[in-house]
Amino acid sequence: MNDRDSENIAAQFIERGWEITDDENQADVAVVNTCSVREQAEQKAIGKLGHLIWLRKPFGKDFPVVGVTGCMAQNKGENLVKLLPDIDFVAGARQTYKVADIAIDIYNKRKNGITHPPIPKGGKRTPKTSAAFVDVSDDTRSHLYINKHLPILGTKRACAFISIMQGCQMNCSYCIVPKVRGAQRSRPTQDIVDEAKKLAAEGVREITLLGQVVNAFGRELGKTDGITEFVRLLRAINDIDGIERIRFTSPHPAYFGDDLVSSYADLPKLCEYVHLPLQSGSDEILKKMRRPYKTANFLKIVEKLRNAKPNISISTDVIVGYPDETDDDFSQTRAAFKTADFDMAFIFKYSPRMGTESAKLPDSVPEEVKEQRNQILLADLAEQSMRYHDKFVGTTQEILVEAPAKRGENLFMGRTRTHRKAIFKATPKDIATLVNVKIESATVTALEGKIVR
Ligand code: SAH
Ligand code: SF4
Repeated sequence: MNDRDSENIAAQFIERGWEITDDENQADVAVVNTCSVREQAEQKAIGKLGHLIWLRKPFGKDFPVVGVTGCMAQNKGENLVKLLPDIDFVAGARQTYKVADIAIDIYNKRKNGITHPPIPKGGKRTPKTSAAFVDVSDDTRSHLYINKHLPILGTKRACAFISIMQGCQMNCSYCIVPKVRGAQRSRPTQDIVDEAKKLAAEGVREITLLGQVVNAFGRELGKTDGITEFVRLLRAINDIDGIERIRFTSPHPAYFGDDLVSSYADLPKLCEYVHLPLQSGSDEILKKMRRPYKTANFLKIVEKLRNAKPNISISTDVIVGYPDETDDDFSQTRAAFKTADFDMAFIFKYSPRMGTESAKLPDSVPEEVKEQRNQILLADLAEQSMRYHDKFVGTTQEILVEAPAKRGENLFMGRTRTHRKAIFKATPKDIATLVNVKIESATVTALEGKIVR
């Protein structure tokens, strides 16, 4: 989601005649788009901001203008100015659509020698003398224009994200997202379909729909003939010429109805891959987390999905070390992890977030135990992923070619419909086309093979 918001910010600058550089030393403006989900993400962003500000300091430079946006900006607001008085702006998660205007205004003023309030003698600002512009106001209509800018096209591109909603209406006890992103607001279905058509016309072949509880999209509209608005949206995108593949992330088990399960069998473009966050396999912990399902319901959805599409790949998110998680709770998570047979997973050590319900509880599981549980699940995952990948060896897979691989001459990367990464020899003109690749070997993280023409 942040990647998509960052694309949007970059596109705002380009629309105003600016260029994007990979080299921060060259930048006149630097924007850090931030996450708040875990403490570590916030610490990393603060370190990065400090470094960007430092870029101008020893050299007495006025630039880059340094600003921060996204969830941490929303979460910390004025406190960021106390921490980093030299920062130029703090624009909350609901202001990302106007970041370029804020930054360019500061840039122009500074170029013309206007800083307000002026930098004190010795050049050292305090929170009091900080000139930072702060806007973390609630903007309940931001979802309507937050996606105004398509990703930077021009270069051939196979895949694109579409944010179909903003915010989240759940209240998982550990999660800061509802606080920083606000309540769920869905975009109008037609706007999203139009955006997908434009992307298809630009050569994009794969669309990933994004939302915190993506399958609750349009829930205020209810169901029509037993079909949710989300499934209607999937059907409408399935009908767009040029789009070959559809994915979405992240769905919530509580909204995973049979209409969505059967879409995997009915909609040819819906890829047989789903990222379905479990969080914990212990009903006790799920209840404490305020996740409104039991492990058995979750596993039932997995079973139905595997019946609808036997080769479906399923990945998940798990939190280890939630307050008072016992060895027994953790064993239940491990058991569910095995039964669901996840092929991929993000495993997180619980991190208390200020302002959430669970942050009031003692963070009772010691760091070493969290780390141990993390390692155990990672080892289970490596085994499951390897077993899954081994099954691909000797088969021929339809791959959408995405980009040159990070390493290796003439090597390119693409993905199977099941979202497995594949590496193979190809040419730049293959980008954004579907090719058949005979898989010759596999590692835990990728498949390797040759294009069969
Ligand atoms: N909306 C998505 C998840 C968004 S946050 C969903 O509900 O599935 C991405 C992941 O971060 C979550 O699934 C959860 O596993 C993890 N996460 C969120 N808050 C966390 C916290 N306080 N500590 C550790 N992990 C957390
Ligand atoms: Fe956070 Fe829960 Fe909403 Fe996901 S569903 S964003 S974990 S509150």
